[in-house]
Order: sequence, then structure tokens, then C-alpha cells
Amino acid sequence: MSLKQKIIIIISAFLLAVLPFSLFAISWDPLQPYTLSAVLLCSFGALILAHFSIVKMRRYQQKLEHSEERLRLSLWGSGDELWDWKISSGELYRSSAWLHPVELQPDSKDFPPNKAQIHPQDLSRVTKLLQDHLDGKTAHFEATYRIKTADNNWTWVLDRGKAVAFGDDGKPSRMTGTLKNIHQLKQTEEQLQLFARCLHNISDAVVICDTDFTILEVNPSFSRVTGRTREQCLQQRFELTLYPSRFMHDIRQSLASNGSWSGEIREQRQNGDIYQAELTFDQIKDDQGHISQYVAVFSDITERKQREAELSRLASSDTLTGLPNRALFMQKLAQLVASKTQHALLVFDLDNFKKINDSLGHELGDNLLCKLAQRLSHFSSYTNRLYRLGGDEFALLLDQTNDLHHITSLAKALLELINKPILVQQHELAITSSVGIVLFPDDGHNPQALLRNADTAMYHAKNQGANRYLFFNDAMNKQAVKRLQLENLIRHGLKEDYFAVYYQPKMDIASGQLVGMEALVRFITPKGGIISPASFIPVAEETGQIIEIGEIVLRKACQAVKGWIDQGLFHGRLAVNLSSRQFSLPFLCELIDDILQQTELPSYHLELEITEGTVMQSPPQAIETMKKLRARGIHLAMDDFGTGYSSLAYLKQFPLNTLKIDKAFIDDMRTARGRNMVDTIMTIAHNLSLNVVAEGVEDDEQLDMLRKLRCDVIQGYHYSKPLSAAELSQFLQQLKQQRSKPALVSIVS
Ligand code: C2E
Ligand code: CA
Ligand code: CA
Repeated sequence: MSLKQKIIIIISAFLLAVLPFSLFAISWDPLQPYTLSAVLLCSFGALILAHFSIVKMRRYQQKLEHSEERLRLSLWGSGDELWDWKISSGELYRSSAWLHPVELQPDSKDFPPNKAQIHPQDLSRVTKLLQDHLDGKTAHFEATYRIKTADNNWTWVLDRGKAVAFGDDGKPSRMTGTLKNIHQLKQTEEQLQLFARCLHNISDAVVICDTDFTILEVNPSFSRVTGRTREQCLQQRFELTLYPSRFMHDIRQSLASNGSWSGEIREQRQNGDIYQAELTFDQIKDDQGHISQYVAVFSDITERKQREAELSRLASSDTLTGLPNRALFMQKLAQLVASKTQHALLVFDLDNFKKINDSLGHELGDNLLCKLAQRLSHFSSYTNRLYRLGGDEFALLLDQTNDLHHITSLAKALLELINKPILVQQHELAITSSVGIVLFPDDGHNPQALLRNADTAMYHAKNQGANRYLFFNDAMNKQAVKRLQLENLIRHGLKEDYFAVYYQPKMDIASGQLVGMEALVRFITPKGGIISPASFIPVAEETGQIIEIGEIVLRKACQAVKGWIDQGLFHGRLAVNLSSRQFSLPFLCELIDDILQQTELPSYHLELEITEGTVMQSPPQAIETMKKLRARGIHLAMDDFGTGYSSLAYLKQFPLNTLKIDKAFIDDMRTARGRNMVDTIMTIAHNLSLNVVAEGVEDDEQLDMLRKLRCDVIQGYHYSKPLSAAELSQFLQQLKQQRSKPALVSIVS
């Protein structure tokens, strides 16, 4: 009980005691026993009254203390702060100390009174709200803002208050309120807002369903993907239109057992369009671990799928003909091989397609391939599939068949169809093809082997005269293996410099003098063995390795001959064989210039031997190249004349210097017919001012006949076999010595 209260109670007791006394004092007689007892009685009554008043007061006081205690506890329990602001004095009472301990002066003029604690970014807003309330514009003051805490951090608070007392002027003189720490709440709210924004902006469609798959919420992307508005979806069941209800059942089961489900779906938009999506279903669990909702997220992958399909179509189809391409073929072949069932593969290409391309142009060649692909496309069926492997090479895969009769009749039909005249850019073309056939698993256990063997069979078909089909057999296989070994050997030889040049001298018949030599390549094995060019040149031609070999021969031969010229041992011409691959090199002339320059061999000492086959591949182009070579002073010889086209009519078109009659004709000279043949060739060649060389002259008889037929030069074992560089040096030395001997001695010998 406060002192003030005690004083009030004593005074009131005193007054009560004095009141009866004053009443009786009017007839004061202290000796009167009545007076005395009245006074005592009154005093006693006053004392009892005072006692009761004090007890009551005490109870009231205790009640007040309890309720204050409760208020304090409830504020403490809620974490709120009570504040009381005497506006006129600026005094601010606060119930807790979790805020930053700013010294608040009783006469502070800060407005708001806790101004120093409010976050600068929030201050103006809080100030306005407080001012509005003080101005009577609002019934309550309420503001959320950041305030500095005791540990110097910013925390979000909800400040609510109200003016509770007013001055004479009607203006608020006192305000009280509470300050609630809502930092956690604010953070949660911000987090929720963030999630909501994410959900709103995310490009994936999101659906939240209850455990019965009733849709509770969807995001805008869901509407965009499905074409259904939020309103159309809410409270509807999540169902997939294109899938039977069994599918949803599977999803439910997977959710129950694995907690999630994911997969690709094809669905229908509201407008009926089909879209593809990657769908993932997950559970949402409450705090007790019970499933409360499901969330489905699906991303529209329609475009991606379309792009992928287009890419795979492009990647697996041939751009020119639209047929499935080699990559797809190899894939399919691998599948069939893996299935270990009987299949057949027909590989075919067009005979002489290169000639068509070279003579009529690549555009026409492409058109021809397209038309042919169209024509052949009807061979593609459920069991047969046609592919373009590249260039003019096609493949027909026959599924599950080992019926030779069926395969043969199909191959015949294929050839017949290709044979039919085809009109391309006003040219009516007659095309033929060669077909190689393999059966598997018999003819190969993997796709590569099968294709290789089918190719081998096809080349054999070509070599047998083209326009035919051939089944692969073991002999072809052995040949193919040999060919492969040779190819590897050549590769090794090129790397290790195993190629050497031999030289076969040529003799002028009239003078008996050495007039030239032919460079002939040899493969010298590490053990000193010699491999004849006859066995490796055809393979090198096929693989293109001949280009490198040819360059080596040319360089080495020019170098050697230059040396012999410099030593005064040789004054004639070096003949070097040029393969058709080399001849069609676009930089052939530059390559020869380079070699001649490096070896310093004058160009007139060089002769190039080319075959009829080479020049007949594309006569106009050949003539052009030949002219360029001739312009450099290089001589040109037609090699192996008589073995190929043997077209004397063509001969005059080519700027040649020499004609080499093939050994086969020389061998045939023993017969009258053979002699006549050589005579004719010789006459025409001389009429064309060509120098004639007879190849493979082995004996005196042949030499005599050739002399009579006015042949210019002979080359053959009769004069000399091909010699190594060292042997030839010796040969030349001997010739020089013979020349230097006195004429008398020469005649005698
Ligand atoms: P080829 O150009 O017709 O060369 C003549 C071939 O006949 C040579 O065979 C030579 O050794 C052989 N020979 C010469 N005289 C006689 C003879 O009296 N009797 C017999 N039986 N044979 C004779 P080789 O050296 O084996 O060359 C074979 C073919 O290889 C050459 O025929 C040529 O086409 C090609 N070849 C050789 N070296 C090269 C080269 O460096 N480049 C190119 N592209 N081809 C070459
Ligand atoms: Ca030759
Ligand atoms: Ca020859």
C-alpha cells in the first residue's frame, strides 16, 4: 500500500472517531459515564472501520499487483513490448529491453520518440503514420518497420498504439501501445512471397492436388501449356485425357511406394492440339509426416521433341535423295546382326557413274541419283529397306530371308529397273549397275565385315564386266584379305621409305645408242626382297596411295638422272609412269614444276607415260592437262598402246610425242597377223609424227622385225632388264667406256 493510501485511510478513521465525539461534546460532561462510554464506543467503532478499510485496500492493492504481474507475464510470453509515451514531456516507458538500448531522454524532442532506432528506410513512413494518428486521422496507429535490437541487428516489428489521454486543447497527451517482434513472420512471409512469385513466373506447369487428386492450385504456366484457365481447373480432378485410368492408378502406386513418379506424356491442349511433356509427381508431407498434397510439375517438351525428331530425320536421311542414309543403315544392320536371324544385304553402285559426272556435270549426276532413288524406292517395303550409302552406292537390306531364289530374283529385278533408260535434263541415259550380295550371319559376324564383303562382291561383279550381281564367296574373301594386307604393307612402306626406283634403259634401234630409261618402282622389303609393282600398284591405285608413291618415284628418279647427266653419263630422257589418279590431280603441273625445280632437272629430259585408260576417262580434261605439260617442254608417251581402247582416231587429238606398243603385240609378232598389226600401228604413229617404242623386246628376232618395221626405240630384256640405281650407274659407266674406246678397237670387237 502506498503512503498516500495509508494517509487517506487514517484520516478517514480519525474523522469517523471524531464525529460522534463532536456530537456528544455539545453536552460535554466527562464525568458522565454515558459520555465516556459513547466516546469509547465511537472510537472502537472507528478503529474497526479503519481496520476493515485497510484490509480492503490491501486486497485491492494485491489484485492490482496480480493483474499487473499477469499483464507483464502475458507481454513477456507474447514477446511483445508495452510502451507508454507521454507526448508533452517526451517520456517513453518501455516494458522490455530487447531493443537497442538507446538512451531516451525524458525531454527528448525525437519524433517518433524511438526515432533513433528506426531503420532509415522506414522512418518517413512510420513518422507519417504516427502523425496521422495524432492528427486524429486514424483510430489506431499501426506500422511495420525495422528496428535496431540489443545485439545491433535490424528486426521487423509491428507497432500498434492509440492515444489514450488528451490535453485541454484536445490534442493527444499520452499514447500507449505494443511492439510485436514479427521478424520471423516477416521472413516467412517474404519466403512465401518468393515461392509464390517463382510459382507464378516459372515456365514449368505446376499443379497442387489434394490426396484425392483434386486440383487445389495451378500456376499460369499450367494454363499456358494446357490451355485451361485456373478457374476451369480448381476443384477438378487431375486426369490425363489421353491415358486410360489405369495410368493414373500406376502414378498413385508409384507415389505410394517410391514417393514420386516421373515420365513423358503426350497430352491434349484445350484446343485439341497434342503436346508432349515431362511430368513429375511428388508428395507433400505435413509436419507429422502424413501426405497432405501432391505436386505435379510438367514441362512442355513439344518443341524440343519436334526439333529432336527433325534432327534425327536429318541425321538419318540423305539430303539429296531423301533415302535413309549410311548412319541409319549401319544402325539397322547392327540391329539385324544382333538379332542373329537370317538376312541378306545387297550393295550396288552405278557402273561408270564417274564418267557421267565428269562429262555431263555433277548437277546432272545428282539429278540422276534422285530419279534413280525415286525409281528404286518401291523396293522399300516392310521387310526390305533401301539406303543411300554415299556417292552412287546404295544398299538394300532384306529382312529375315535366306531364300536364294527370292534374293536372286530381287537382284535381277533391281538390275532391270536400273537398266531402263532414264531421262535426265534432256539426256536419255542407259545406266547399269553391279550388285554384291552377302548373307548373314554366314558372310560376316559384324556390320563392318558384312559391308566390306558385300563391297568386295560388288567389285568382283564390276571386274567381271559389270551389270551383274555376285554373291560373296570365300575366294573373294581371301583376295580381300590379301588386298588389305597389301594396303597395310604400302602404308608401312611409305612411312619407312621402302620404295626404290629401278631404271630400264631404252635403245634407239638405228644407232644402237641409249636414248632413255623408264623409272619403275620397286618395294624393297626389310629383308632385301623385292615386291613387283604389278602386285601393289592396282591396290595403291584403289586406295589413292599411288599419289604418294608416284611423287616419291618422280622425285627420286629426277634426282638420280640429274646426277647422271651432270656426270656426263646420260643425255637422254627419263620416262616416269603417271597413274590416272596422279594425272587427274588438280595441282599436277605445280607438283612437277616443284620437283623439277628442286632436282634441277631440265624439263626436256622428262617424259611422262600415261595409259589410254587415263586419258579416256575425260578426254577434254586430259587434253588440257597434256597441253600444259607439253608447254613446259615435257614429253608425253602413250603407254601400253593396244591394250585398252586402241583408238587410232583418238590418238591424233592428244598432244603426244611417243607411242609405246604393248609387249603383247610384240610377243604376237611371230605370226603374220601380229606383224601386220604392229606395222599398221607403226605407220599410223609415224603419220602422226609419233616416236614409236616397242615394249618387252626379248630377243634378236623381235629386234630384227622391229627394225624392218622402222620402229624407233626398243625397251626390253634384250637390251636391259630394269636396273637398280647402282646397277644403272655401272651400266652407264660401261657405255661411256665403250664410247671412249678407239674406233678401230670398237670395230675389231
Ligand atoms: P609398264 O609401264 O608397261 O612397264 C613395263 C613393265 O614391263 C615393267 O614391269 C618391266 O619390268 C616389264 N618389262 C620390260 N621389259 C620386259 C621384257 O622384255 N619382258 C618382260 N616379261 N617384261 C618386261 P614392272 O616394272 O613390273 O612394272 C609393271 C607395271 O607397273 C608397269 O608397266 C607400270 O604400269 C607399273 N609401274 C611401274 N612403276 C610404276 C610407277 O612408278 N608409277 C606407276 N604409276 N606405275 C608404275
Ligand atoms: Ca610404262
Ligand atoms: Ca607399258
